[in-house]
Amino acid sequence: MYSIPLYRPPSEARSLIIQVTEGCSHNKCRFCYMYKCKQFRLKSDDEIKEHINELKAYYKDPDRIFLADGNVLCLKTDKIISLLKFVKAEFPSVQRISSYSGPLDLIRKSDDELRLIREHGLELLYLGVESGSYKVLSMMEKGVNQLEMIEAGQKAVRAGFKLSCMIISGLGGEELMNEHAIESAKVISAINPHYFSLLRLVVEEESELAEDVRKGRFKLLSPVGILDENIIMLENMELTDCIFRANHVSNYLNQSGILNKDKDVLVERLKKFRDSNSFIPMGNDRL
Ligand code: SF4
Repeated sequence: MYSIPLYRPPSEARSLIIQVTEGCSHNKCRFCYMYKCKQFRLKSDDEIKEHINELKAYYKDPDRIFLADGNVLCLKTDKIISLLKFVKAEFPSVQRISSYSGPLDLIRKSDDELRLIREHGLELLYLGVESGSYKVLSMMEKGVNQLEMIEAGQKAVRAGFKLSCMIISGLGGEELMNEHAIESAKVISAINPHYFSLLRLVVEEESELAEDVRKGRFKLLSPVGILDENIIMLENMELTDCIFRANHVSNYLNQSGILNKDKDVLVERLKKFRDSNSFIPMGNDRL
């Protein structure tokens, strides 16, 4: 039914996943292992319809649907619109349709195209910003620079999507810790998304970054360094009514709140946690 591995954001745990593409059309980020084993491909209309018909046998009335894999917005706009019409006709109970979005896909589409896609029912986009730093984005081969990332995020918000942005804590390593924190805060603030999630870097064996770590080209941030970086990042955020979450299994301290309203409380909690005797670091990563 699905081409494995299959990923979705934590907040889509209860969603029906419809696999529209396979893999990621970029597939070059050094820290990412998600789709390394998959050749990117677009599914044909017939394949997608057959897939949806199979899913209907198991999921009758989903209220949330997540379109996978990596970047569904790379499809042509008219194909996305036909797909959304078909999905809504087959699952009339659906209340929310979401997907990952690649920054280059957002940049390539015009404002009118994005608005049209939004109007046809794609409501929530997840954008992996990863870092706001020019240097870190380039080092990790994200495929876009800081200004392009801001443009991508702002276009999504402008078109009416709900936008969820993610930053990976520790992605600057020891060397670029400060820059990663400050520049990420700058980019997220410029986008002002509806949701902002902070995850921690976990280096998987399959990623190219694992090789960088082994060869000493990338020095992992210590657990205390991660908390220092989180503090600097939050202190520099300027957001309006943004739902903040750092409640992924990778985070040292489980936190959530509204930014900027809860900024001082969140920062104080991080400082207290960092300075507490009860803080037991989980280790740098899985290597
Ligand atoms: S992080 Fe996203 S864009 Fe980069 S390779 Fe992984 S899935 Fe593709």
